[in-house]
Amino acid sequence: MTVLCDVCGVRKAVVYQAHSGRRLCKECFVEDVKRRAREEIKRWGLFGPGDTLLLGLSGGKDSYVLLDVLTEIHSTDKIVAVSIVEGIPGYNREEDIARLREVAKDYGVDVVVTSIREYTGHSLTELVVRAWRRGYRISPCTYCGISRRRILNYYARMFGAHKTVTAHNLDDEVQTAVVNLLRGDIVGLLRLHPAAPPASKLVIPRAKPLRKVYEWETATYAYLLGFPMQETECMFINYAPTLRARVREALYRVERKSPGTLMRILETLDTLLEPAARELETDGLGRCERCGEPTSRGRRLCKLCEILEGAGVVRPLYSAYRDITFKPED
Ligand SMILES: [Zn+2]
Ligand SMILES: [Zn+2]
Repeated sequence: MTVLCDVCGVRKAVVYQAHSGRRLCKECFVEDVKRRAREEIKRWGLFGPGDTLLLGLSGGKDSYVLLDVLTEIHSTDKIVAVSIVEGIPGYNREEDIARLREVAKDYGVDVVVTSIREYTGHSLTELVVRAWRRGYRISPCTYCGISRRRILNYYARMFGAHKTVTAHNLDDEVQTAVVNLLRGDIVGLLRLHPAAPPASKLVIPRAKPLRKVYEWETATYAYLLGFPMQETECMFINYAPTLRARVREALYRVERKSPGTLMRILETLDTLLEPAARELETDGLGRCERCGEPTSRGRRLCKLCEILEGAGVVRPLYSAYRDITFKPED
């Protein structure tokens, strides 16, 4: 017996969407994901038609979904993408990026490929090994996350982009929010809010149009549209911060028992935190004395310079760009 789509009632249902209790056909499912992205962009004013967007694309399934969703609603003349090679053996290999570039080109989007090495002078693996040899115990994910975010912001400024856009999904967002809650990091939690202003004029505001889309939905979307699914697992996965791993595990258990939990958590936080998030200050930051990038007031070094120093890198490559990346009025 063929089960028909709960939305159109005509086509065959191929997806069961647990959080809505609906069975959907391919077309209605894809449209449902796109609709949620459009609603999120509109609700928070994530970007406007005149904005130049810098997309951060990893080459994973979420990258393709982001490309497919964004190019339909935004002029490709105003979209440029950056892909950052981490420098982990066997991961984020050249073929993945080459394929990403090809698909992006079909959409009319150019992908600039860069790497953590190109920016800092060292690959992620080199940094991690150096840090560990020096007894500086810091997770590879911390190096990776902080570097990527910095590099993306650097390119956004260079291209004169109004927003950086990433493919973070609902699962990513809720995990980060809960980790911030558990750590008591209130400012971190508020900065995650889509209505929060950037901490500094030097930080290009970030937009996450897929933040209300489940990770299984981005995977299903990519599969249904025939996007590359080959995802190599990062060899550092077992070194992932254990708190985040535990949070992810616990959230999945609850989500399985009561579908829609992640969505409700993020909706609740969005509503609850909005007034406080809007009150956050822009330019409440100081500048790193080594590279000139923003850092918390009263701190000598920015987070990236600090963790690189932990790896024994006291003159990172990017500190040489200092004079060319800041205009005099900065
Ligand atoms: Zn349908
Ligand atoms: Zn710095």
